[in-house]
Amino acid sequence: MMTRDPRYDVLFEPVRIGPVTAPNRFYQVPHCNGMGHQYPSSMAEMRGVKAEGGWGVVNTEECEIHHSSERSGGIESRLWSDADIPALARMVDKIHAHGALAGIEPAHMGMGSSNNYSREIPMGPSARPVDVMEPVHARAMDKADIRALRRMHVDAARRAQQAGFDIVYVYAGHDMTTLMHFLSPARNDRGDEYGGSLENRARLLREVLEDTKEAVGDTCGIAIRLAVDEMQGAAGGLTADGEGRDLVEMLAELPDLWDVNISGWEHDSATSRFSEEGYQEDYIGFVKSVTSKPVVGVGRYTSPDRMVSLVRKGVLDFIGAARPSIADPFLPRKIEEGRVEDIRECIGCNICVTADFLHYPMRCTQNPTMGEEWRKGWHPERIAPARNADSVLIVGAGPAGLEAARALGQRGHDVTLADASSAVGGRVAIEARLPGLAAWKRVADYRDYQISQMANVNLYLESRLSADQILEVEADHVVVATGARWAADGKGRSNGHAIPADVGARILTPDDICAGQRPEGPVVIFDDDYYYMAGLMAELLRGEGAEVTYVTPAADVSHWTHNTMEQGRIQARLMRMGVRIVPLHNLTRIAPDHVDLSCVYTDSVQRVACDTVIPVTMRAPVDDLFHALQAKTEDGQNRPKTITRIGDCLAPGTIAAAVYGGHRYARELNEPVPENEPFRRELPALAAD
Ligand code: ADP
Ligand code: SF4
Repeated sequence: MMTRDPRYDVLFEPVRIGPVTAPNRFYQVPHCNGMGHQYPSSMAEMRGVKAEGGWGVVNTEECEIHHSSERSGGIESRLWSDADIPALARMVDKIHAHGALAGIEPAHMGMGSSNNYSREIPMGPSARPVDVMEPVHARAMDKADIRALRRMHVDAARRAQQAGFDIVYVYAGHDMTTLMHFLSPARNDRGDEYGGSLENRARLLREVLEDTKEAVGDTCGIAIRLAVDEMQGAAGGLTADGEGRDLVEMLAELPDLWDVNISGWEHDSATSRFSEEGYQEDYIGFVKSVTSKPVVGVGRYTSPDRMVSLVRKGVLDFIGAARPSIADPFLPRKIEEGRVEDIRECIGCNICVTADFLHYPMRCTQNPTMGEEWRKGWHPERIAPARNADSVLIVGAGPAGLEAARALGQRGHDVTLADASSAVGGRVAIEARLPGLAAWKRVADYRDYQISQMANVNLYLESRLSADQILEVEADHVVVATGARWAADGKGRSNGHAIPADVGARILTPDDICAGQRPEGPVVIFDDDYYYMAGLMAELLRGEGAEVTYVTPAADVSHWTHNTMEQGRIQARLMRMGVRIVPLHNLTRIAPDHVDLSCVYTDSVQRVACDTVIPVTMRAPVDDLFHALQAKTEDGQNRPKTITRIGDCLAPGTIAAAVYGGHRYARELNEPVPENEPFRRELPALAAD
């Protein structure tokens, strides 16, 4: 086995956190995962795999500590009472089995939760409506409430200690917790010793830190998670050169570890479209200069050289990671084993984040095994060897075909991968050229390199295959991964039929634009897709000087990107660039020099002059090859054992779905897979009647 480059030795030094010692500097910060208390076995296994992959510290997500602060619907971990201990102890055991430290992030979300399950009135420093747009108000906490809150934290810390945790957090981040709400002048207008000056607003945070230390500090490291900058200027909250810094100075030596970031969450987990690797350094860079305690920070770090320089420059002691540890749970091990080029780098797309907003087990574009570790037994690095020597021909080297080839190659099958174009990657290679998406190419790069190392996988580019050519190969299995094309006729969610277009109407699709075609005059982009493509078309063309009107039946642009936490930034960017935005309208007619837009509520029609229309409504599978193969082998002659379509060719979706589809195909080839429930399921325990 190869050994690590001595340049990276510093990353493998043990670091003390109060009474405990982390085996190295790789630190998985707390992150939501859509499994939590609802799918605890899945959550435990996922965290255990991270420890196996070399992360020296592995944390929970935010962990509810009391029924007076619960995010029903949302799926976080939970420690309301002793009954919750076993589920978390399972996670701890899985982490300890690999020599890592287990950390927990107890959280009281106060006015960040509406308590729809417990029906308790939320509480916070002052009376305010809760953060979510619901008709629910939080009440102002009195002294008894404050004492109760301190007790809740102590109880949670003791339970965490009982579960075996090594690190217990005190969480004041992301504008999400009561401790943070007390810090915020915008939320805290109390006249007592818990309001007013920073010292007063920080009193509760200090008390909880001291209480937690006293309760469990003998065996547990006490970490504070603090947003040192709330990205709203001094009037809106903490800033790194104002009260954020003052606060770190005030509490400098009290915790055993500082976990620092910026808030809200959309700033902390910024996507690659808007922020580069290391984007938080300007804000958190000062922390180490005012405390002697170890510091952890995040910034989508995937490069070991960058990690080393952060430690050497005295910016961080621990390399914090949520997303890089999701995309590659084995990132530290790969550095340790001298296999840096095998790292599966996060692309910064935030598909992982959608799981928290939409309440399902987390998934990842780069790592198709994420969330499947327990329920499908999928390990990110290991895969069952092939059951026989069957050969596989895969047509199409987009995300689906590439991942199928890589995983089948890993299993030991003889794989032929052919693509019509001159480079691998399919849609990823194309979309990565759009503004801000360069990092997405990593989906193709990782797989391209992996298959280049496999003698049993042969790649043929510039090879457009017909059905006859495919059958001539006589592969045992044929996989059609030929992708999808944007529809030009406007069919989609809002229009079941083609949008009427007059003779002479000029229509271009996103595929045409990506291929280099351009509108002639003013352009209307119609977004009935709601993800990123229409917004990117507007950004690209407006950036080139076109007059752009963006029309959508939704209330705002790129609506689904609320779930990737990008919507606000996309809308702001388009508005600042001078894109005209027409929300809440359907596109009902396309003429050579104008379009008709119909209000989704009143049907009143407005006319907008334009020369070109770009419908971004739906993608149609490129499945003619699949159907031709079916037709040619109907009689059973020359028929391969299986002909299967995967990825966008089967049903267009996210890149994550295509990668997953390719991986699943490879996992399941020649394996017995139950038709009903092809995964393990966790059922809630039935209580006594
Ligand atoms: P997915 O997201 O499902 O992987 P993509 O659209 O990204 O799909 O990739 C599909 C790939 O299939 C493209 O690279 C395209 O060049 C290739 N392709 C389409 N038809 C053929 C064909 N007949 N022969 C070879 N390659 C093809
Ligand atoms: Fe990174 Fe995207 Fe995976 Fe999240 S889903 S970890 S952002 S690659």
